[in-house]
Amino acid sequence: MDRRLLLSMLSIGAAQTLVGCANGHAPAATTAASPVDGPAGHRGGAQSRSGDPAAAASGSGPASSTSADPSSPPTASATATTPPALPPIPPPHPGPPRTVFQAPAPTRRIALTIDDGYDAQTVAGYVEFAQRSKIPITFSPNGAYEAVWSRHADVLRPLVESGQVQIGNHTWTHRNLVSSRTDADIRADVERNEQWIQTTFGITSRPWFRPPYGSHNAHVDALVGELGYTKILLWNGSFGDSTLITPEQLMGLASRYLQPGTVMLGHANHATILGLFAQVERLIAERRLEPVTLDTMFGTSRAVG
Ligand SMILES: [Zn+2]
Repeated sequence: MDRRLLLSMLSIGAAQTLVGCANGHAPAATTAASPVDGPAGHRGGAQSRSGDPAAAASGSGPASSTSADPSSPPTASATATTPPALPPIPPPHPGPPRTVFQAPAPTRRIALTIDDGYDAQTVAGYVEFAQRSKIPITFSPNGAYEAVWSRHADVLRPLVESGQVQIGNHTWTHRNLVSSRTDADIRADVERNEQWIQTTFGITSRPWFRPPYGSHNAHVDALVGELGYTKILLWNGSFGDSTLITPEQLMGLASRYLQPGTVMLGHANHATILGLFAQVERLIAERRLEPVTLDTMFGTSRAVG
């Protein structure tokens, strides 16, 4: 199916499947089988968002200082220069899994969620972008690319400590979970990644789990829920860069989807984004959006897990 047609058809359900870490791969089972946080169909699809007056709102200065919500906590740009010490890794809290894909309530917040990391140059670019812009980002790296990520651990660590950067679990291997894999194999894939995240970044990824390709079902959700991953993270906006696209295509999707309340999916896999960080940053500021981590958007905490 043509991408443009796909986009025109976009609904919440389609958003979950759209360009999720796939290289032309169609998710095998993307039906949200577990309970869904937030009003399903709240957005009514992408087309209803194109006329959002917020998109036309102009503003200057960083999003964090132009937030329309004065009760919002400051973003990491306003945190102290000495980050607080990281809390001890909490034990898992198994429970019923819930699928989330957008902010839980009307807000100007957005969550930038960046996955995978198989291209070293792009990972380096994202790390530099986070460090320079101070924009909160949630990375969900695969430990399979540890050689790429671990070289940035020293730079990322203080950003993690300050709360600007959060780490989610996207499995070690990025293999599809909805297949003939055994439960033990799936558990090992998730827990190996968690161990690497703890060792490398000093925090737990719990309770946040993003299934590779957005592919999940009730069985997979229950399995990871037993491991303490009770937030099954999907998305309702995407840079579309799980495959190689042009800068124009990427900015078109950024313009379409960077709207209040979006959980935005991106990938540290292709260099297209590297020349566009300033434009994305400008878009966020112009729309008075407030980038936050998942913890901030959903009230979770690495201290609790
Ligand atoms: Zn992925």
